[in-house]
Order: sequence, then structure tokens, then C-alpha cells
Amino acid sequence: LFVAFEGGEGSGKTTQSRLIAIWLRDQGYDVVQTREPGSTKVGMRLRAILLDAAERGLTARAEALLYAADRAEHVEKVIRPALYRGSLVITDRYVDSSLAYQGAGRALDPEDVSKINAWATGGLVPHLTVLIDTPPQVGLTRLGGAVDRIEAEPLEFHERVRKEFRALAAAAPERYLVVDGTQPLEVITRQIQDRIRDILPD
Ligand code: C5P
Ligand code: MG
Repeated sequence: LFVAFEGGEGSGKTTQSRLIAIWLRDQGYDVVQTREPGSTKVGMRLRAILLDAAERGLTARAEALLYAADRAEHVEKVIRPALYRGSLVITDRYVDSSLAYQGAGRALDPEDVSKINAWATGGLVPHLTVLIDTPPQVGLTRLGGAVDRIEAEPLEFHERVRKEFRALAAAAPERYLVVDGTQPLEVITRQIQDRIRDILPD
């Protein structure tokens, strides 16, 4: 079972994906909890480049390709082997982040971003994507002073990102759970658990 967590800055994906991984381990499942960018050796270097380079004005196409390169490593070296062993895989960000940030955010052709990512991942699609939908103003406020490069983008950038995440979920509701990220943490966790329980293997 492959589950992706998606959402904007400060939406709580990292927190929720951790809580869900713990909950699944408590039930005896073998869980690989991972994230993008930066979950392989090369990926860690790409992450450093990406987080530092946008600040220096990396071109949008190069950024999209580096995210796709990180994802190709991630899929082939971490995600596929784990799924093959029968582990449950939970990732903090996946292809939708590129469709939202590089596609909608940086205004690249969504078809192009989609194509390079289908190629990078060999077409691996999550069984479920949990979108923690949070207004950018709320998420950015939660992050407080932690303004690194992309949090420095204008609010409209983050509004475009949010809109794209929601559009992706609306286009394939059977593969998505959209939760309201402004709810209390425990309520969000429970909603995610209720959905995942239905698709757990025996
Ligand atoms: O998930 P996390 O917040 O650690 O991601 C690091 C940064 O990379 C974030 O600021 C996020 O907005 C950005 N990012 C991006 N495009 C992606 C994935 C992440 O711009 N495809
Ligand atoms: Mg995070």
C-alpha cells in the first residue's frame, strides 16, 4: 500500500504522516515513512541544491527536472523496493507537489510536468493521496519566522499551489482524501485513519 501526503506550507503533512506511520506500526505493519525531496544519497544533495537554488533564481524548468530526478531516485531505490517487500509506504510529498509547485506555482505547462514525472516514476501512482487542505495564510502563519526560500514567494503563488492540489483531488476523488487542515490535529488524524482503515491489507 502506497500513501502520499500532500499540502502547502505549514499544512501539517509531516506531523500527520508521522502519526499515521506510528499508528500503522502499532497494528503490526511494516511501514516505510519517507519524504521528498531528499530521501536518497543523491536526493539529499539535490534537496540542498533545490532549497538553496530557488533563492538564487534557478530556472523553473531546471527546478522541475531536479525534483523529477530526486523522485526517480526515491521511487527506484526506496519506494518500489519497500512495496515489493510488502511494506506500507507513506511519503511526505510526491508527484502532486510538482504539479502544484512547478506546474501551477511556477507556471510551467502542466502536461510537461506531468509527463516528466510519469517518466521519472515509471508511472507509479499512490493508492491514496491525503491532501491536507489549508489556506496559505494559515499555514504560513503557523510556520512563523521559518521563512526559507519558497515561503518567501508571494501569497498568490501559494494560492495557485493550493488551487492545483484541490483540482487534482477533485479530478480523481476515489484516489484522494481531502481533509480540512484548519481542524484540530486529532480530528485530522482520525479522519485519515478512518479512510486508511478501509484500504489496509490483511
Ligand atoms: O516538504 P517541505 O516543506 O520540507 O519541502 C521543502 C520545500 O520545497 C518547501 O518549501 C516546498 O514548498 C518546496 N517544494 C517545491 N516543489 C516540490 C516539493 C517541495 O517547491 N515539488
Ligand atoms: Mg513538512
